[in-house]
Amino acid sequence: MKEKYFVETEKNKALRLKITERCPWSCIFCHKEGGWDIDDINWDQETERVIQTIRDVIGIEEIHYTGGEPTSNKGISELTTGLVSLGLDVKTTSNAQLSKKALKK
Ligand code: SF4
Repeated sequence: MKEKYFVETEKNKALRLKITERCPWSCIFCHKEGGWDIDDINWDQETERVIQTIRDVIGIEEIHYTGGEPTSNKGISELTTGLVSLGLDVKTTSNAQLSKKALKK
């Protein structure tokens, strides 16, 4: 008798966004998400237009920051505020090497 297997699938609604390559650490295993010499992503009209297009075409609901260390992006507050204004949830991966003050900010 042949066994039947069922696989549940779920649409990916999150976009991983490398918002900086900077990081105070230099781990030898760091792959920098496969990208080198990449500028920080900041909130401006071009970023808004691109993210809006991706949201509308692919149907994303969440942006997940990566890097480098995302909190090394000095414009992270404005970027996050802009993304949230588009109705997106924002999450981040961090090495957590930051002060309480920086975390609150
Ligand atoms: S981004 Fe992460 S893995 Fe890479 S150097 Fe920084 S702490 Fe290390």
